[in-house]
Formats: sequence, C-alpha cells, structure tokens
Amino acid sequence: MTDTLSASVPSAVGDHEIAQERRIVTAVPGPKSEALHARRLEVVSGGVGTTLPIYIDRAHDAIVVDVDGNQFIDLGGGIGVMGVGHTNDAVVAAVQEQVAKVTHTLFTVTPYEPYVRVAELLVKHTPGDHAKKVVLVNSGAEALENAVKIARKHTGRNGVAVLDHGYHGRTNLTMAMNFKAMPYNLGFGPFAGDVYHAPNSYPFHDGLTGAEAAKRTISYLEKRVGAQDLACLVAEPIQGEGGFIVPAEGYLLALQEWCTANGIVFVADEVQSGVARTGAWYASEHFGLVPDMITTAKGIAGGMVLAGVVGRAEIMDSAHAGGLGGTYGGNPVACAAAIAVFEQIEQRGLLHEAARIEGTLVPLLRELQAKHPAIGDVRGIGAMIAIEFVDPETHEPDAATVSRVAAAAAQHGVLVLTAGTYGNVIRFLPPLVITDELLREAVAVLDTVLSEA
Ligand SMILES: *Cc1c(COP(=O)(O)O)cnc(C)c1O
Repeated sequence: MTDTLSASVPSAVGDHEIAQERRIVTAVPGPKSEALHARRLEVVSGGVGTTLPIYIDRAHDAIVVDVDGNQFIDLGGGIGVMGVGHTNDAVVAAVQEQVAKVTHTLFTVTPYEPYVRVAELLVKHTPGDHAKKVVLVNSGAEALENAVKIARKHTGRNGVAVLDHGYHGRTNLTMAMNFKAMPYNLGFGPFAGDVYHAPNSYPFHDGLTGAEAAKRTISYLEKRVGAQDLACLVAEPIQGEGGFIVPAEGYLLALQEWCTANGIVFVADEVQSGVARTGAWYASEHFGLVPDMITTAKGIAGGMVLAGVVGRAEIMDSAHAGGLGGTYGGNPVACAAAIAVFEQIEQRGLLHEAARIEGTLVPLLRELQAKHPAIGDVRGIGAMIAIEFVDPETHEPDAATVSRVAAAAAQHGVLVLTAGTYGNVIRFLPPLVITDELLREAVAVLDTVLSEA
C-alpha cells in the first residue's frame, strides 16, 4: 500500500535526511516490526503495554520512520515530550558535546554547571517573581513524590488533596494520587495513605461555572479532611491523561486562593502541560496562577531523562540537606539537553508556534465535529488539543470509535494518542515545529477514517 504524499521538506539530520512527509510503503505493522514484536513478546514484561507494535528506527521534527521505512506524522510526540521536534539539531549537538565532557558525577557529591543553569532557567520561566528554588530528578512521578515530600516537611501536615480525573504517575505514592484504577493501579496496592480525591471541574460534563465547581471541591475537602490537615493540593492546570480537561474559568484560581488562606501548598502538576506546550512557558499562566510549586518533566529535555520541582524558596529549603536527591537526578547530559530546549523555545519562537498550532488545528477539528456527531467536544489550549467522543443523544463515552479511529489512522500514517478516564478522547500533542500542511493532512486522514468507522 502506498499512501498519498505531501510536498516534501527535507531536513538534514546527521548522515540521513527525513522528508517531512507521510509515506506508507508496507502493511502497518510491516514485516520487520512484526519480527521485532515477536522477539519483544519473548523477553519484555507483558505489563509493559503496546499501543502500536510499530518499531521506530529514526525520527526528525514531526515525522517518525519505522524499521520498514514507513513514515508517520507524529501527533503524540512521545506524549508531549518532543516539543522542540524529534532529533532537534541543537539538542543533539548539546547532548553529544556534554556526553563526551562529563556524563555523570552525581550532583550532590561533585556538582557541575548545567544543573545550576537548568535551575536558573526554571526559576526564570515559571510564574511569579518571588524567590524560587529547584530540585532536579528523573521522571514526572519522581517530581510529584518530591513535591509531596517537601510540602509535608514544610507544613508539618500529612494530607494530600488531588482532583478526580487526575494522573500523577506509577510509583506507589503517585498511584494513590491517580484517579483511574485500570490500568495504572489495579492490583498494585496497598497504596500510600492520606491522599484525598475531590471532584474537579469538567465543564463539558458538569456544566458548572468555575466558582460553583471550586465551591464543590473546597467544601468536599473541608468536610472530608479539614483544611488544617492538608499539606498540599496537587492539580494539573489542564488534566492530561484525564482527557485534556480545561477547567471552567476561575476554578483553579479559587482553589489556589483557598490553599493560600489555609496554609496549604498549591502544587501545579505541569508535567504534561509545561515547557511551551500550551503557548505559555507553563499553562498556569493561562489561568492567572502563581503556584507555590510546579512539577515539570515531559517536554523539558527533548526526550532526555529529566524532571524537576520548582517552588517558593522558603518551601523548597524546608527539606534538610541530604533529604532530596538520587543517583541520576539532574544528570549533566539531560541538563545540557534541557538548556538547548529552553534556547530553542526562544530562538524558534515556539510559544507562538504552539498558538499557531491551536489556530490551525481547532477550526479543522470543529469542521470535523460538524461532520461527525460522535465528536462531542473540541477543547484545549495551544498544542494541547483534544476531541472527546460521546453518544450524541446520551452523552455516554464512546471509547469504541476512538480506538477504531486511532488504529485506522496509524494504518494511514498518522499517529494519535488516546486519553480520558473512559478512553473516549483523542489528544493531540504534536511537536511544536510541525507544519500546518502536515496538520491539515493528518486531520484529513482522521476525516477519512471517521467516515469509515
Ligand atoms: C506523565 C505524567 C506524570 C508522570 O510522569 P512520568 O515521567 O511518566 O513519571 C505525572 N503527571 C502528569 C500530569 C503527567 O502527564
């Protein structure tokens, strides 16, 4: 099967070129992917899921190429990690230079500059001009673990409040903080205690204003826990795995104000929404938030392994010396990549590019919604956009259409991610360097497969 080609925009990457075009040359998955998948099934834990058994050989900007030579438009970007584009030349160069200089020492034993530079950049680009400090770690979940640790130490309280439909990771504490049991938590308990789940704001389903939803959240927590027992409230400004739920206006600000009034540390989990994804450095800005702490990961280091917590200096310093850290946290190669990411965001105007993507994608998706009544909602900010599928009459979640569309789109060379507590959301997290042309082509493919679904 050979699929349509778009005009090619070749880009030099090391010793090979990857044209920014969709090209399907074998069945999907192709024979080489199938052979690799057979090997994998022998040796990789079945607990490690497979959305698509398409094995990727190389990638650049918004195109990934599999081992059979098929080229896909990547609208998932490794779950929003590849904001600066796959194999971004500046990130590749920074990694190559750093890896040959010093690969690891352990920052808490013998420090190095790139860690300090990343901390400076995080202090500079997160909301609020108060004094801030940073700790760097290896994953989003580990950032959440540390945020909770620090908030508990700072407040001397135990309780952790989270919101329904939230997702925070796969460690023991963060499992306790997740809303959705399957696949994240089921059978993996017992879970960490003192975690309290409160109703969120989900305008498409609850129809509440921000003030009404905030009142519901706050009165629940006051009755169920008591504000004076809460160390922190952890909220994603736009819920990621939950289905790109953008809360009603004023909701988050009301929560933050309540936290401040009650000595509760307000933590914005920006692991998915941060680092230019929404057209702001951090999505908190869109909601007028100045969080006490922000967790950041995914897009921060162009695919290298890095995460962090940035927060008010007095809160971050409440942890005793030696209380925070870990062998690899703030690894110099990952930090070098992150520095290049921050530079790329400025040099290539990626905040504007995220806004451009919203401007292109949202109208196209609204046209799609007009044609396909299964699309109940189009929402999101910047390059964090989703469509939610429901039964047009009953508003019941329609996960079946979503999985059919995602699978069929891959057959046609378009990779999309699903999301949502009910699996009925398709989310778009493309590299911010994706062209409008590729976006239009990808939506046209979705239109075709939706007509067939
Ligand atoms: C992905 C994600 C996490 C977990 O990050 P990992 O790096 O996978 O541990 C936490 N919070 C949010 C909002 C996420 O999207």
